[in-house]
Amino acid sequence: MIPITVVDVADAEPYVLEVLRSGVIAQGPMVKRFEDAFAKVAGVEHAVAVNSGTTALVASIEVLDLQPGDEVITSPFTFVATLNAILEAGASVRFADIRAEDFNIDPDAVSAAVGPRTKVLMPVHLYGQMADMTKLMPLATQHGLAVVEDSAQAVGATLDGKPAGSYGLGCFSLYATKNITTAEGGVITTNDAALADRLRVLRNQGMRARYQYEMAGHNYRLTDLHAAVGIPQLEKLPQITEARQRNAEALSKGLAGLPGLELPAVLPGRTHVWHQYTVRITEDAPMSRDEFSAKLLEKGVGNGVYYPKVAFDYDCYRDNPKITASLADVPVAAKVAQEVLSLPVHPKLTESDVDTIVETIREVLGA
Ligand SMILES: *Cc1c(COP(=O)(O)O)cnc(C)c1O
Repeated sequence: MIPITVVDVADAEPYVLEVLRSGVIAQGPMVKRFEDAFAKVAGVEHAVAVNSGTTALVASIEVLDLQPGDEVITSPFTFVATLNAILEAGASVRFADIRAEDFNIDPDAVSAAVGPRTKVLMPVHLYGQMADMTKLMPLATQHGLAVVEDSAQAVGATLDGKPAGSYGLGCFSLYATKNITTAEGGVITTNDAALADRLRVLRNQGMRARYQYEMAGHNYRLTDLHAAVGIPQLEKLPQITEARQRNAEALSKGLAGLPGLELPAVLPGRTHVWHQYTVRITEDAPMSRDEFSAKLLEKGVGNGVYYPKVAFDYDCYRDNPKITASLADVPVAAKVAQEVLSLPVHPKLTESDVDTIVETIREVLGA
């Protein structure tokens, strides 16, 4: 079986041992070291490490001081954490549809969705390719919106040379299967020193100095043990990204021209970091997406559906007064959710694995 994802953290051993031997295992110098290295990678002045990508999103909304009823506009086609974080931070949420070409929020749909209570724009850089920030940033400025980038899948991605997480408050996940990992963890990036300061205080029970509390805070801290796992990951991020890009290119070359198979596009000005390589199985294909997925699994090619439904389309979100959402308003996201399938693209794939994936798909589609 060629797995859809492989976690490789073996080279963290000396760093983890260093932490274990030091006795400083909660947030300490290793977290600081990780933050400094991460800020460089993200091209920002400040990086604040927290204990998950979800926490990064919650904290980012919390430091914006929204009032009850204030709204966040985000993408309906995302991991559910995006939605859960907004609700956890106490904000209301409204969805704007995506574009099928990059699976990301559509600036025209955002423009139509902005209302008097909208305070935050939260684009998601899905699968490792950035949303259309060139159009979204002027919209945010025009309507006075703060920008929080859900960059969980997009560490190292750029648009016009500017990295994900450097446009607004950037929120990254370091979960085990993300492009780089600390097992669990997250980071918030910003060039705003005042926001970075508030985030650091919020992260540690609202405490500025010992027992001096400035706000009702949380325990959002990352541990030095986790940061130690992330340090070699950050060091080899360029190689990780290059391997993903090489695999994606080989897949796109091998899979070109098959009926009913839409390949992912890299839009102008972007570097794609390929957290997922996601094709669409359209009505021209000889079988449904789910049949295709099952056939590939049967033949040893791992795959996954990210995501089978739009984020709000579950009973637990219906009738929530904080959610303004209707499937009719997000037709592209609703359709794409039935068509997408992600194939292995991770750095551990060999050339022969890529050949096997291509040959198996050509065989299954009868080409
Ligand atoms: C992984 C992910 C998150 C949440 O990150 P965790 O570290 O798992 O909390 C949020 N948004 C998106 C798009 C993600 O893929």
